[in-house]
Amino acid sequence: MRQSTVYCDICGSPIQGRPYRALVDGAEMVLCLSCYMRLSRGGRAQPVREAKPRRPRGVRRPRRLAPDMYDLVEDYPERIREAREARGWSTAVLAQKLRISETMLRKIEAGKLKPSLDLARRMEKVLGTKLLEPVVDEDVYYGDDDYGRDYVTLGDIVVIDRDEE
Ligand SMILES: [Zn+2]
Repeated sequence: MRQSTVYCDICGSPIQGRPYRALVDGAEMVLCLSCYMRLSRGGRAQPVREAKPRRPRGVRRPRRLAPDMYDLVEDYPERIREAREARGWSTAVLAQKLRISETMLRKIEAGKLKPSLDLARRMEKVLGTKLLEPVVDEDVYYGDDDYGRDYVTLGDIVVIDRDEE
């Protein structure tokens, strides 16, 4: 787990556990629990609702597979041509098996035309080669902000209040 030390904007001490983000006198600050409790009781700190953080530039999120989404492999023209030639088929023969025009097949093999997913699946079957790969979704939000911090929600704060009383 990523951990970076976060310091309280009020007392300056390193925050143990979860930092609290709050509006103090109209300024957004990150507070330790004791400062947060003190200021919120005095009415000076308002909890900040966490907006969905931006993805920091240059940081790659872990990649997650998006199920049932496929894209053509980059070298599909070569794969199709090589698989076809390995079987000793002319473009006319393969086009007939795929029920497409030879012109279209030639364009696909030249990389000038992308086959539809449906056609690519048929080509995979007929040629016994892999043309589709799963699409990965990189825009998945994992629940921390640019600093890798987790923030408490209003619900957590209510629970803490009750425990202390
Ligand atoms: Zn503090």
